[in-house]
Amino acid sequence: MKFAEIAQFFERMEGTTKRLELTEILVELLKNTPSDVISKVVYLIQGKIRPNFEGVELGIAEKLAIKSISKSAGIPIKKIEDAYRLGGDLGITAANVLKEKTQTTFSTENITLERVYDTLFKIANLEGKRSQDMKIRYISSLLNDATTNEAKFILKILLGTLRLGIAENTLIVALAIAFTGEKDNRELIENAYNVSSDLGHVSEVVATQGIDGIKKFEISVFSPVRPMLADRVKSEEEAVKKFQTEFAAEYKLDGERAQIHKKGNEIVIFSRSLEKITQYYPDIVEKIPNVLICDDCILEAEVVAMNENTGDFLPFQELMHRRRKYKIEKAVSDYPITVNFFDVLYYDGNKTIELPYLERRRILTKIVKEDRFAKMIPMSIIKNEGEVLEVLENSINSGCEGLMLKMPQSPYKAGMRGSNWLKLKREYQNELGDSLDLIVVGAFFGKGRRTGRYGTLLLSTYDSENDTFPSICKVGTGFTDESLDQLYQILSPTVTIKKNSRVESDMDADVWFDPNLVIEIVASEITLSPIHKTAYDVIRKNSGIALRFPKFTGKIRTEKHIEDASTDEEVIALYKSQKKSI
Ligand code: ATP
Repeated sequence: MKFAEIAQFFERMEGTTKRLELTEILVELLKNTPSDVISKVVYLIQGKIRPNFEGVELGIAEKLAIKSISKSAGIPIKKIEDAYRLGGDLGITAANVLKEKTQTTFSTENITLERVYDTLFKIANLEGKRSQDMKIRYISSLLNDATTNEAKFILKILLGTLRLGIAENTLIVALAIAFTGEKDNRELIENAYNVSSDLGHVSEVVATQGIDGIKKFEISVFSPVRPMLADRVKSEEEAVKKFQTEFAAEYKLDGERAQIHKKGNEIVIFSRSLEKITQYYPDIVEKIPNVLICDDCILEAEVVAMNENTGDFLPFQELMHRRRKYKIEKAVSDYPITVNFFDVLYYDGNKTIELPYLERRRILTKIVKEDRFAKMIPMSIIKNEGEVLEVLENSINSGCEGLMLKMPQSPYKAGMRGSNWLKLKREYQNELGDSLDLIVVGAFFGKGRRTGRYGTLLLSTYDSENDTFPSICKVGTGFTDESLDQLYQILSPTVTIKKNSRVESDMDADVWFDPNLVIEIVASEITLSPIHKTAYDVIRKNSGIALRFPKFTGKIRTEKHIEDASTDEEVIALYKSQKKSI
């Protein structure tokens, strides 16, 4: 397939904001794509090259892209930087710069989708000393043969700035229409996605085998399942009202979610955002097979750091010491953990996600042989506000964040945030009602003690409708010297020449970042603001939503993708619930 065809479709998609029209263009593209390359096209539409859980990241820095354009066009780097500062994103700048070049050379070669994809794949897998040079060589060679429109999209994919406005849901609907002729089949496709976490593979199957192939998708060991998520409630009163029946209360532990897949003695662990994290937990790999009474299974647990002497749970940040490439054995002995199980999705040939919660819990209790390392998360069945308060108090006293309240009859709804699971945290009892996970998009330099570091960060929510990052607040409190250093180390290599095209903000930040990092924030109130862009025009014309007195909680949420950050819809819901309770 010619890459030019795809670039044309991308151009059309960029030109519309109407959901229906976007879906129609997408359906046309999918129908025009040969089935042997459909998975590649689906990944590219999502701005990636493999499903998230494979951890193949392009991660090209602006500087490297500029060097590649310079090499391909034979134009000095400075000139490209100047053109880029003047307008558009780097993809468009490249297109303009290369246009001058193609007017003076003869012609470009026809490049295929396969060539673009394979080159991107190679770039993502390059490591080591010479990798930067090799990347520049690969990119400039692609740009040499690309038309201006192709160059624009190649760079956007490389830089992660492709903005087609296509949410996963839209893609699922388009797949249903294109290959089954029925929009209503979207649910079946969504189910297939929920148990495989790989839309590329799902698209390949539906394109070649139609709906019969899709029906065969089943939960299977080593394919990560999209996690079930919880709605938040502010009070025990709200929880009791929502359930209208007795319900289960489990401690909400403050650790890292781990989806543990076991086949015989082989263990693979996936994070909440379904990345492989097995390498950080060699102790789980070693000990868990002896703890589980089954051959194969998929279980969910919260991994929590602990003080081995007292047995107390330690805060989430302690776990982050495990995120290192080298000397992992030392981290394992310095930062011991416990594995706390709370769900079973599959065991020994039995799919359990359809079973009610209580039945899953019964099975889980039989599978897990508890010891010092592996435990069941405590659970009690309760029904009134007094009982909720009592368990909440106990959970907080044991160093937990609060409670997870679960509907006894509910199946495991993969990939869904819904009211069958409710989370009630301690800080919900007052003020905002929840912490938010926000994306760091810019910063202002610090003064005094903070000189040479970022004193204040500019934060954004995720607008999933438009696939953008509107700003919601600046935050300058809650930082320790250690966290200021740590944030500087993480953020400074991601500084960009100017604001990323997906970031929406009128602020004049001292530096802008490639949006990559999610941090946790609490605040006293949500207010309307003319200067911030979250939910702009939604509650009031010419106003966005902002946070009052935001404060960093100390949690850097490395396990979250930027698309997993708090969304505009979540903030709007919090704003409305805050108004109700006033
Ligand atoms: P949060 O910021 O509150 O962790 P989240 O967006 O990561 O939210 P939620 O579904 O909102 O995910 O909260 C559930 C998270 O709480 C789970 O992802 C899991 O990591 C953790 N957790 C702790 N204890 C439990 C439990 N008993 N049952 C389910 N999840 C639990």
